[in-house]
Amino acid sequence: MPDPILVTLDGAVLDPNVPLLYADDLAAVRGDGVFETLLVRDGTARCVDRHLDRLDRSAKALDLPAPDLDRWRSAIETGQRVWAQRWGGDREGMMRVVYSRGRESAPVDAVARARSSETGISRESNEATAYLTVAPVPQRAFDVRAGGVSVLTAQRGYSIDLASAAPWQLYGAKTLSYATNMAALRWAAEQGADDVIYLSAEGAVLESPRSTVITVRGDTLATPPPESGILAGTTQQAVFALAEKEGWRTSTERLRTPDLIAADAVWLVSSVTLAARVTALNGYRMPTPERPGEFADLVDRAILAG
Ligand code: PLP
Repeated sequence: MPDPILVTLDGAVLDPNVPLLYADDLAAVRGDGVFETLLVRDGTARCVDRHLDRLDRSAKALDLPAPDLDRWRSAIETGQRVWAQRWGGDREGMMRVVYSRGRESAPVDAVARARSSETGISRESNEATAYLTVAPVPQRAFDVRAGGVSVLTAQRGYSIDLASAAPWQLYGAKTLSYATNMAALRWAAEQGADDVIYLSAEGAVLESPRSTVITVRGDTLATPPPESGILAGTTQQAVFALAEKEGWRTSTERLRTPDLIAADAVWLVSSVTLAARVTALNGYRMPTPERPGEFADLVDRAILAG
């Protein structure tokens, strides 16, 4: 695996083999921060505005200082330029944007900042940790774009009402705390499956550990509501925006496992993997749609439109 490209928010391109984080960075010791993962295709990061919007919302949910989106945009441009210089436009890159609360000994916090400006006590020395990396898209992404994924449903154990009843759960924010999601994928792999679709306590379809669920029924694309405690997917949003222009119906609705089984096709979509068709669900082999390339092509075009 070649070295990633490393760019800090101030635009410096650093040696990725030199350590960057302090040992007490709250990203490392608490997962206390937010991130975004973007696809770099043809030398250009895709859906940048959608990702920066979500970064902003995630930071707000964690009481991090509002990210400086112009600086992030410029760091993203630097990352994609250095990527294209190294690999040309042909190689797809996975860009990961990381924004954490910084050091435990001097954490940044929007609420504390506001208070310190009232009291006159300066916290200027405290800095968030802010950088991005660009690495090659993992082979797995190409494999599942081509061959799809076998999926197991898995209980998440919480109600679809939890996100609104307990906002501190941070559902809907893309936090750095992904250990549960990684464990769910290992659990699936132990049983010979490729991925998981989470269900709420009521049995509502939620999302996958790193992608959004979209069903295709005739000319209708459907996805579960973000209010049910899932991440609002940038890929799903870009796909729905283009699909509506092209005459598809789109629907954000409560889905259950039988709705997945009855659909013409079920897709897991995300920024880097793009579209992976669910080929088997809980051991049931999903029928191959008449035009399997149609949806994947829609996703490809949607991320170009942004
Ligand atoms: N849901 C979860 C939990 C994710 O981690 C991701 C992507 O990483 C998604 C959905 C899909 O989001 P996006 O399309 O913005 O990549």
